[in-house]
Amino acid sequence: MEVVKVKDLSKIYIEGYTKVMALRGVNLSVKEKEFIAIVGPSGSGKSTLLNLIGGLDKPYEGRVIVNNKDIYKMSDEELTIFRRREIGYIFQFYNLIPSITVKDNILLPLELDNREVDSKYLDEIVSFMNIKEMLNFYPSSLSGGQKQRVAIARALITKPSIILADEPTGNLDTKTAKDVINLMKLSVLKYHQTLIMITHDPTIAAHADRTINLVDGRIIGGN
Ligand code: ADP
Ligand code: ADP
Repeated sequence: MEVVKVKDLSKIYIEGYTKVMALRGVNLSVKEKEFIAIVGPSGSGKSTLLNLIGGLDKPYEGRVIVNNKDIYKMSDEELTIFRRREIGYIFQFYNLIPSITVKDNILLPLELDNREVDSKYLDEIVSFMNIKEMLNFYPSSLSGGQKQRVAIARALITKPSIILADEPTGNLDTKTAKDVINLMKLSVLKYHQTLIMITHDPTIAAHADRTINLVDGRIIGGN
C-alpha cells in the first residue's frame, strides 16, 4: 500500500528580487510502514520536501497524494483536519510548550482537535517511551533525550498514519540519538506508521529502510 506519492513536485521561494528553486521536480513513493531517511547538504530542500508532504506549505507545481487524497486540492479547513489527524510531527528542538506539564503537552494535539483521550493508549505509549514517571513534570526539568521521547509520544497520541521528523536526533548525543531512533523505529512497527525523517547523520540514516539523497532540490541516485 502506497501511503505517500509525490509527483513532479517543485517549490520556489521568492526573496526580494530573487527566486530560490528549493525543489525541482521531485518524485517519491512511500509505502505503508516504510522508514525513509532524507539526507543531503544544508539548503538542498529537505525541510521544504517534508513540509510539503505534511501539508504545511503550498507547492509551486506538482502533487502530494497521501492515502489516495491530493492534499493540495483540499480546502484550507480540510487541510487543517488532514494535518491534525494523519500526520505526527517531530522536530529537532522538540517544540514542547514550557508552561504546561509533560502530560498536557502529549495531549495537546487531541485537545486541538476536540478528541477524547484514550487512557489505555496514553498509558501504553508513555510506558513504551519510558516517560511515565515524568507526566507531571514541566519540560524544562527533562534531558534532551527525555524531551524528544515526550515529543514522540505527542506525535503518536493522535494515531497518525505518517510521522514526519526533521532532524529528530540533531540535538542529542550519540548514545541518546541511537536510543531515540530505535524507539521511533519500534513505534513505526508497533503502530503501523510510515516514518519520513530528515537527518544529517549517516549512522542515523543507516537505520532507515531506504535513503533519499537530495541535492539542489533534486533526488539523486537510485531510490
Ligand atoms: P535545516 O538545514 O536544518 O533544514 P535551515 O536553517 O535550512 O535548517 O532552515 C530552518 C527553517 O528556516 C526552515 O523551516 C526553512 O523553511 C526556513 N528558511 C531557510 N532558509 C530561509 C530563508 N532564506 N528565508 C526564510 N526562511 C528560511
Ligand atoms: P534543507 O532542509 O535541506 O536545509 P530547505 O528546504 O530548508 O533545505 O531550503 C532549501 C532552499 O530554500 C534553501 O536555499 C533555503 O535558503 C530556501 N528556503 C527555505 N525556506 C525558505 C523560505 N521560507 N523563504 C525563502 N527561502 C527559503
